[in-house]
Amino acid sequence: MEERHSETVLVTGANRGIGEAIAKRLAWDGYDLVLHCRRPGDDIDAVKAAVESEGRRVRLVHFDVTERDTVKAVLEADIAAHGCYYGVICNAGITADKPFPALDGEDWDRVLRTNLDGFYNVLHPLVMPMIQRRKPGRIVALSSMSGLTGNRGQVNYSAAKAGIIGASKALAVELAKRRITVNCVAPGWIETRMTDELPRDEIRKLIPMQRTGTTEDVAGTVSFLCSADAAYITRQVIAVNGGMC
Ligand code: NDP
Repeated sequence: MEERHSETVLVTGANRGIGEAIAKRLAWDGYDLVLHCRRPGDDIDAVKAAVESEGRRVRLVHFDVTERDTVKAVLEADIAAHGCYYGVICNAGITADKPFPALDGEDWDRVLRTNLDGFYNVLHPLVMPMIQRRKPGRIVALSSMSGLTGNRGQVNYSAAKAGIIGASKALAVELAKRRITVNCVAPGWIETRMTDELPRDEIRKLIPMQRTGTTEDVAGTVSFLCSADAAYITRQVIAVNGGMC
């Protein structure tokens, strides 16, 4: 078994929703954190304070994940000053749901650029420094049930989230012998701002466990994948969805 870690993990989109829960859970589980969000604000300050209250070290980074040059510059500066991360959680994402005939090019581009290009933009500056640490590492990407099964009104989002699965599996093969694992978590219906406007009662009937998921349900799985117990798990997709297929 690998040694236990008190190392640093970057979480993107950590100011709310699933990213916020992941940050808090990782802090609880003993990791120091680099919390990313698009811009400074009260929301990320509150998450930072919560993480600090667990006695963990934390710093903030800000960028739009679609802006490749900025992402690279910010992350390279951060790791030059503080050293590279043990783990990276690619969580930031958006939806722009519409039936396909109504889905215009902007909706397609926006969702692909944020979810899929965001995966590349964040990980590309970090992977070589992670290799050069010569230590175990963890990459976890937030995919979705939509990327596994396809979802009505989400042709753009399903494409992006399926793309993340393919990219993660390929990267997992490239990094396996370096002891850096790469896995996806594929949530079902989780209560966040992203799912605010969806019809909860209708959705519950489709879920074998008869409830929507909580952000903590997802965060626990992400933290497990970051742990030493998950050292031999790579190239996998773990669904967190109350039993939906
Ligand atoms: P939220 O909408 O609550 O949060 C999304 C986060 O992503 C926010 O922090 C948001 O920042 C950030 N973000 C979005 N676009 C950008 C961008 N261009 N640059 C930087 N940050 C950005 O969503 P959830 O917490 O529900 O979702 C988190 C992840 O889980 C996403 O990848 C989502 O696709 C995935 N997921 C969610 C499910 C659900 O049911 N909720 C189901 C399956 C997957 P800001 O506050 O600035 O907008």
